[in-house]
Amino acid sequence: MATNITLTMIKPDAVRAGNIGNILKDIEAGGFRIKAMRYYHMSKTVAGRFYEVHAERPFYGELVEFMSSGPIVAAVLEKENAVADFRTLIGATNPKEAAPGTIRAKYATSIGENAVHGSDSDENAALEASFHFASRDMI
Ligand code: ATP
Ligand code: MG
Repeated sequence: MATNITLTMIKPDAVRAGNIGNILKDIEAGGFRIKAMRYYHMSKTVAGRFYEVHAERPFYGELVEFMSSGPIVAAVLEKENAVADFRTLIGATNPKEAAPGTIRAKYATSIGENAVHGSDSDENAALEASFHFASRDMI
């Protein structure tokens, strides 16, 4: 199968808890190669645009507030079957339902503050990668 990409963000809760290093270690141990990485604080406007697909959902306001509440680490990750394998590595959206050993089981505290983002399709991975990075930044 062709090697492909997914986009992750280490969310503000995990950054505040000092888990950037732990999560990157799990990501690399999971066989993902980092193609691009950036540490920055999204404004509310930028976070709102990233999550525009969820604009109609009841938690949208809360999600945008949270994602702009502190810095994140955004990264493009490369691996065969990247999207599905990364979602397996991070576990279910709700950490209470996340399989033992997954990143969300280890580092997330609630369904809203769930430590990491992972793209949900190849199409969205490409869109989300180009949201955070210029093509020249992907190595
Ligand atoms: P992500 O897109 O962050 O990888 P996901 O694909 O598992 O997570 P989505 O349904 O895309 O889940 O929801 C996006 C994000 O919105 C979740 O990661 C979580 O932070 C937040 N969220 C989802 N459901 C709820 C909820 N019921 N209450 C509060 N926040 C929620
Ligand atoms: Mg999602």
